[in-house]
Formats: sequence, structure tokens, C-alpha cells
Amino acid sequence: MFPKETRILVVDDMSSIRDLVRSQLRGMGYNDVVECSNGADALSSLVSGTQSGRPIGLVISDWNMPIMTGLEFLRNVRSKPEFAALPVVLLTSEAEREQVTEAVLSGVSQYVVKPFSAKVFEDKLKGAWQKHNK
Ligand SMILES: [Mg+2]
Repeated sequence: MFPKETRILVVDDMSSIRDLVRSQLRGMGYNDVVECSNGADALSSLVSGTQSGRPIGLVISDWNMPIMTGLEFLRNVRSKPEFAALPVVLLTSEAEREQVTEAVLSGVSQYVVKPFSAKVFEDKLKGAWQKHNK
């Protein structure tokens, strides 16, 4: 599982969802959380995190957002060699179910269908960790 000091980037256009994810992460012992409300800002945060020597170790991103969807964000991340192996978990709603295959082909680490329980959320994070640390 991700070490407790992992810096986690939470991306969602709804602050209520960011709060929910942050509180679930806190409950699991993760307190180094960075928030962004869209994919474009999130890309900047990834780059600045690396430049500042405090790299993001996990991204949890919504799918349906203005400016850049979670899928576009994922593809952008994966196109950069330095982020090719960065764990990215997408939060999807029922509406995106048919596009999940595209996310898998684009290199998503795990996806979580909203609404989700704390247990499912934690299991998905474990899965993301295992996928990148075999
Ligand atoms: Mg959204």
C-alpha cells in the first residue's frame, strides 16, 4: 500500500467531492493532499511537485470536469515519460461506464464508480499500489 507520507493529488470540479476524498484519505492516515479543480491545473501541479522535489505519488481524479476530462488528463499524464508510471485512479459515474475500456487502454491504474464506500475506496488504492509495485 502507498506509504503514509505519499503526496496525493485530488482532482475534482466539485469541492464537496474533494472534501469527501480528502477525509477518506485522512481516515487512512494520508495527510499530504493537494487539491485541483480541473485537469489543466492538475498537470501544472504534477510538474511543480516534481520541480520542487516533493513529487506527487498518487493522483485521484474525477472523470467529468470542465476544461479537461479525467480521460484527457490521464492521456496527458501518460504521454509524459516522467509520469508514465504514476498511479492514477479515476472516479467515474454510471454515465462513463461504457468508456471505462478507453481509460483502461489509456493506462488508468484503477477506477472507482461513484458513489463508493470507504472500503471500496481503500481496496482500489491497494489495487493501484499493487499494479505499480509488482
Ligand atoms: Mg465532476
